[in-house]
Amino acid sequence: MQKDRFQPTVEYSRLLDSEDELAAFRNEFYIKPDVIYMDGNSLGLLSKRAEKSVIDVLEDWKGLGIDGWTEGKYPWFFLSEKLAEMSANLVGAKPEEVIVTGSTTVNLHQLAATFYQPKGNKTKILADELTFPSDIYALQSQLRLHGLNEETDLIRVKSRDGRYLHEEDIIAAMTDEIALIVLPTVLYRSGQILDMKRLTAEAHARGILIGFDGCHSVGAFPHSFSEWDVDFAFWCNYKHLNGGPGSVGSLYVNRKHFGTLPGLAGWFGSKKEKQFDMEHSFTQANTAGAFQIGTPHVLSLAPLIGSFEMFQEAGINRIREKSLKLTQYMMDLIEYDLDAMGFTIGNPKDERQRGGHISLEHKEAARICKALKENGVIPDYRAPNIIRLAPIALYNCFEDVWKVVQILKTIMIEKQFEKFSNDRNVVA
Ligand SMILES: *Cc1c(COP(=O)(O)O)cnc(C)c1O
Repeated sequence: MQKDRFQPTVEYSRLLDSEDELAAFRNEFYIKPDVIYMDGNSLGLLSKRAEKSVIDVLEDWKGLGIDGWTEGKYPWFFLSEKLAEMSANLVGAKPEEVIVTGSTTVNLHQLAATFYQPKGNKTKILADELTFPSDIYALQSQLRLHGLNEETDLIRVKSRDGRYLHEEDIIAAMTDEIALIVLPTVLYRSGQILDMKRLTAEAHARGILIGFDGCHSVGAFPHSFSEWDVDFAFWCNYKHLNGGPGSVGSLYVNRKHFGTLPGLAGWFGSKKEKQFDMEHSFTQANTAGAFQIGTPHVLSLAPLIGSFEMFQEAGINRIREKSLKLTQYMMDLIEYDLDAMGFTIGNPKDERQRGGHISLEHKEAARICKALKENGVIPDYRAPNIIRLAPIALYNCFEDVWKVVQILKTIMIEKQFEKFSNDRNVVA
């Protein structure tokens, strides 16, 4: 283990960098020399390959006009499917079980509209009280569309400590009344990974369908959705997958559900060869592609071509391995350098439960984040007291992590945060 040979010196960080098999990928990203970016779990950085694939798509539009749909470097008509094929291994799926379409919240609406079918006394949706608000708003509105009660028909599993969820508590809430379960793969604040395999098995043992929001995990570590028999999943591609602001999201539908009529149907869910027959009867694709709605946002798909190529080359297992080393190293430094400064590590230390970011709690978190920014470190603040720091395997190095902790230490010793107010900005 790293811990055995841990040293708090910059030389040690450079030693770790010299051993890093993925180090070369850093050169493919736009990294500012005076900025240390620790926010790749909110918006990944631009790579030169993603930039290139955007330009390629623009060139095809410039040169081909409408024919870009079927000709050119990346025919747009098949681009969502091509990208699904490139990324399916990130979630442990067959290519036809994934489609790159919509956005996280829209895809949740699609999947809930499809798989939430309240019957008899099985009418409730199970989620959790720590989940991302958009997921809750979407589920509440789905309940309203069924004429159900958004408060009493949405069960939110409670956290015992405000940070983590216990799988036993979730399982205990899987009663006869639950029709559908939607949970995060990783909690967006504490970075806790839920045991998806166990939760899926327990849900199915009770005849309940289960789906996961993978925003904070896809691109950070491997998944085995098909092996675990997850019913559906959805995620964004602009966080760990570096697809750029507002890039198109993804969804997964287990092949056993192929043929289920989409709750929100549209012509792009058609069988490809039937779509332009323009019939008024819907012939749905026999793949996850059936859950597409309308024309894909081609220019927001384009960066994913270059970005996914890098994930294919780096390999998700190597990415996970480096990510775990980066976060372990950061925790080691925090314990060594920031002891007795009022910080609490609020993420799981166990590798099986630790996602891709560190969640550092402090009562002055909002203004410590402002001081970090002033010192060239980009963190991510989550109210009321969390500093999220995400060292990203493809573009952060171990020396970045060392520097961030030294900067934090100086901020605390010099009380630099005191010149800022302790509240959040509009976008945090
Ligand atoms: C980022 C994030 C979202 C965002 O959804 P969009 O529809 O892309 O805005 C939703 N859920 C989780 C868990 C997230 O982390």
